[in-house]
Amino acid sequence: MANVDKCIKCGKCTRNCEFLSKYNLDFSCKEKLYNLAFHCFLCGKCNEVCPMNIDCMEYILELRRKKINENKGNVFEKEYKETIVEKTNYPFKNYDQSNAKVVFFPGCNFPLIYPETTKVIYQLLKDNINAGLAIDCCGKPISDLGLLEEENKIVNEINTNFKQLQVEEIVVACANCYYFFKDKLDVKVTSIFKKLKELNLGKKIEISNMNIFTPCQDRVKQDWLNDLKDFLPEDYKTTNLGQCCGLGASAKIKEPEIYNKLSSQFNNFDEGNIFVYCASCAAVFINAGSPIVKHVLTEILETKENVNKNFTI
Ligand code: SF4
Ligand code: SF4
Repeated sequence: MANVDKCIKCGKCTRNCEFLSKYNLDFSCKEKLYNLAFHCFLCGKCNEVCPMNIDCMEYILELRRKKINENKGNVFEKEYKETIVEKTNYPFKNYDQSNAKVVFFPGCNFPLIYPETTKVIYQLLKDNINAGLAIDCCGKPISDLGLLEEENKIVNEINTNFKQLQVEEIVVACANCYYFFKDKLDVKVTSIFKKLKELNLGKKIEISNMNIFTPCQDRVKQDWLNDLKDFLPEDYKTTNLGQCCGLGASAKIKEPEIYNKLSSQFNNFDEGNIFVYCASCAAVFINAGSPIVKHVLTEILETKENVNKNFTI
């Protein structure tokens, strides 16, 4: 278990989190956190600000798993049924074109939100390195619900598929897939930005007043931001932007008001452009009404694609 006993009650996590501040919690409030474990967005803002380096996000995930075990799954009933059905056996799963050394794995949300950009990436990788394509959900949404057994099943199946197809490397377009797969799969996992850089593809974004909104999974390690840097103008900023988009860990079911606040946080932003490198963040902010949010890949690859408005969050 993540060691929350080190918590010195400094309040930094509370001040930086809509969920913790709503209930006036920090990570010494074990019982209340257990009861509210499914209200947390698993965004990792608490990890980012904690002076004691407590893995707060992992702690909440452990509480979710504990809750599932103790309640034999009954914590779910109807609320998460749709997510569980869709993500445990992803309906658009397709490995027909995956027989290659390097395979593009766009994940579940990216191809639905940016279908044209997905096609452009696949074509570029196919033309340059004869890459294959695998469509599936990585299993992170199921993992976030604390469903460890189902999570292991999904990862084992994906690992087996890649082994049978003799895949050596996958290129991912989503930071969630990247961090989730990184230590679980037997294949090499590479970010799309690293691969584009390696192949000398894509153009540097030349724009002033660029703010980069960091997705949850990349907050602390920042592998993706490092891979992306070569495509960004020298003076881009990542500071003083909000907590998260609100989509993570199915918490909006429990906290719709917080979700509405987080998703519309850039609607009146007037300090430049907001660029994201997570398709889900883009869909959430744009569909909530922000006119200035863009995904970096639509600029780097010059597809200029807008989010698919039919994509429902
Ligand atoms: S993971 Fe995010 S929502 Fe959950 S407690 Fe930490 S900062 Fe708050
Ligand atoms: S930021 Fe860390 S030390 Fe401070 S209250 Fe939160 S968990 Fe405790």
